[in-house]
Amino acid sequence: MRLEENIRRVTPYVPGEQPQQKVIKLNTNENPYPPAPGVERALKEMDDGRLRLYPDPEIRMLTESLAEYCQVKPEQIFVGVGSDDVLSMSFLTFFNSGKPILFPDITYSFYKVWAELYRIPYECCPLDEKMHLRKEDYCKENGGIIFPNPNAPTGIYESLDVIEEILKQNPDVIVIVDEAYIDFAGKPSAISLIDRYDNLLVTQTFSKSRSMAGMRIGFAAGNERLIRWLQDVKYSFNSYTMSYPAIVCGTEAVKDTEYFRKTTEKIVATREWSKEKLADLGFEFPDSSTNFIFAKHPKYDGEKLFQALKERQIYVRHWKQPEIAQYLRITVGTDEEMNQFFDTLEEIMKE
Ligand SMILES: *Cc1c(COP(=O)(O)O)cnc(C)c1O
Repeated sequence: MRLEENIRRVTPYVPGEQPQQKVIKLNTNENPYPPAPGVERALKEMDDGRLRLYPDPEIRMLTESLAEYCQVKPEQIFVGVGSDDVLSMSFLTFFNSGKPILFPDITYSFYKVWAELYRIPYECCPLDEKMHLRKEDYCKENGGIIFPNPNAPTGIYESLDVIEEILKQNPDVIVIVDEAYIDFAGKPSAISLIDRYDNLLVTQTFSKSRSMAGMRIGFAAGNERLIRWLQDVKYSFNSYTMSYPAIVCGTEAVKDTEYFRKTTEKIVATREWSKEKLADLGFEFPDSSTNFIFAKHPKYDGEKLFQALKERQIYVRHWKQPEIAQYLRITVGTDEEMNQFFDTLEEIMKE
């Protein structure tokens, strides 16, 4: 018993499956298109002599290109190993009041895991009947707030008015807006608010819109003081979070704004026709501003559809949590993948 008492025991986050055989993979919101051509070039031309050395602990090259892209100062950007790393570091840095932090009850399930890992008390705020955030719930006393915008897995974007309201009501705590899917929304990022609200931290990732989930790059934007505090924690944890290849490839990806715009537009176009098709088949779903659609059918059981699709080598995401057990979260793939998905879905529904 003694030994067990000394262990930090946690229930880990469970990521979506990464099947090794060839399947149509619509379960973890990866991008179906390759990264920008400059990334492939950078990998081929990579100076492997540089691998002998430690990477730049300040990650200046990537930080500066992101600052330019976001139209903020480099001192307002923090880069990490995927936004999961940035978020985990942010929990550790900003949520230390002892009061419960707040996040939606239906949201990215990693928030609860980090809260438990770092022993941060938390409260989950229910979404309203249309699956929107209820901003009133974020006005009570708390130790910090975090939510994705657009939210996952609902796909719903909340306007910056809602976010500003929450920021104004919570001047003494940090509010983190996780913008993993913002590039698919065609709506403004909360990064435009960081100069006005010193309690705002916004995170984004290269895993979805920049097709680089395997490279692990994410970043946060916030005022200089918040970023300094994050850096201090990072340097107390691991000075070299980002590998040299990730720094070089990430910088190449940011440079190619044209490729980024084109692939993002393609996914949005595929999403829009997929919504029509799902509605024609009788599915119900909140309006998605992301690269996935969170849909349920009044006459077909969510788990059964999930299993039937999986047996036919089509992977989507399903959770057993009762409130959302009827839903499938379907990542938007290429047009061809979506056509195959719909052909298979129609077959299953006819059986
Ligand atoms: C995918 C995702 C992340 C993490 O992405 P990384 O691959 O770690 O950059 C964070 N938040 C939400 C809501 C996500 O969906």
